[in-house]
Amino acid sequence: MISLERLCRPNIWSLAPYSSARNEYAGREARVFLDANENPYNQPYNRYPDPLQLELKEAIAKVKGVPAESIFLGNGSDEAIDLPYRCFCQPGIDNVVAIEPTYGMYKVCADINDVEYRPVLLDEHFQITADKLLAATDSHTKIIWLCTPNNPTGNCLKREEVVKVIEGFEGLVIVDEAYSDFSAQKTLRSDLAKYPNLIVLNTMSKAWGCAAIRLGMAFASREIIAIFNKVKYPYNVNLLTQQQALEALKEPFEVDNWVKILLQERTRMVDAFMLLPICEHVYSTDANFFLARMTDAPAIYNYLVDRGIIVRNRHRVQLCQNCLRITIGTKPENSELIAALRQYA
Ligand SMILES: *Cc1c(COP(=O)(O)O)cnc(C)c1O
Repeated sequence: MISLERLCRPNIWSLAPYSSARNEYAGREARVFLDANENPYNQPYNRYPDPLQLELKEAIAKVKGVPAESIFLGNGSDEAIDLPYRCFCQPGIDNVVAIEPTYGMYKVCADINDVEYRPVLLDEHFQITADKLLAATDSHTKIIWLCTPNNPTGNCLKREEVVKVIEGFEGLVIVDEAYSDFSAQKTLRSDLAKYPNLIVLNTMSKAWGCAAIRLGMAFASREIIAIFNKVKYPYNVNLLTQQQALEALKEPFEVDNWVKILLQERTRMVDAFMLLPICEHVYSTDANFFLARMTDAPAIYNYLVDRGIIVRNRHRVQLCQNCLRITIGTKPENSELIAALRQYA
């Protein structure tokens, strides 16, 4: 791996971060807070939240098996996707490589940050070849984006190829594991110690059922996390989110139960889709959604919208012509979708 100093934008490497009232006394016991110009009334909302979310990180560390110093928490994964550009990519000069098709935010954040985005097409089984990805890099490539299970395709990327990319690239490899709770694939966050150039993303938005609170996480070396902490907004995760996430983390068995039900329903839905005359193919999936190739995805999409049922039309996405992406809902919701599709004429 190239040194972090060389990977980092020079202005970020030398940045003196904002020092908030609350970091300066950190670690010592305090009773009287007259340092932050807060209103002393209206507790607990009158106080600024913990900028480093230490209590929440300890709870996440236990559930995810990653030390708290290796965790960054952000306002959704969105923040954890944007920050690496801001920290490592010189606008107009550096570039990133990503698989195609994949989650749209990697490209949107590249465009916002004026960083060249180099998509590398997956093969017809939606798999990667490490050599193809590595061949798309040059001396200005700072990041390779991978997503497994991938969105919108639903499949896991082959582990040997993912490891080849991590081991064969001198810059950062970011692996988005937003859907890993639905998958039997081994999570890469347990291999962080082995790969100093690896960043693994997770979110509370999917299996944990907390999309509304906006909590995303990045797991990486403590050196990379320290750079993120320097650049993020000082109070990027608000108190309500921290409290709600702590509550959710007390109920990991509830998540296991949701996942179990959703996977059973996924099997039922995939089986039902395969019997539909208007469905040509269902791609194998490791997530809480699946991709189905239909006879006429745009027409079927509009038909469903007219009935108040919204799925994701992926017809215009490369390799996904005539594909709809179906999220697994409750049993009655899933049944309603199937019933509507059976009536499609
Ligand atoms: C849904 C999703 C996320 C979650 O984003 P949040 O900002 O945490 O809600 C991240 N990555 C992928 C690939 C997703 O599909």
